[in-house]
Amino acid sequence: MELVKVTEKKYSIVFYGEKVWKMTHKNFLNSRKFYGMTTKEFEKCFICEKTIDLDEVPIFIKVKGVGNRFACRKCAEKNSKNATK
Ligand SMILES: [Zn+2]
Repeated sequence: MELVKVTEKKYSIVFYGEKVWKMTHKNFLNSRKFYGMTTKEFEKCFICEKTIDLDEVPIFIKVKGVGNRFACRKCAEKNSKNATK
C-alpha cells in the first residue's frame, strides 16, 4: 500500500521588523559557520521557503515552538499589510 500523509501545522509568528536585525544574511551565515553552528534553518524564508539574498538584511521573526528564524521582505510586506487592515 501507499500512504501519503500531509501534516498541517499552525505556527504563531511574531515579526520584529526591519530595524531589529542589522547584519547582512551573508555575514550572519559566516559567523554561524565560524562557530561551527548549522545554517540550514536560516538559509530560507521560514514562511515561503524562498532563499534569502545573501546581501540582504533579513527580517527577524520569532516562531512559537520553533525559535528565531528569518523571513523575506515579501512575507514581511504581506504581514504589515494584513496588520493594517
Ligand atoms: Zn518569504
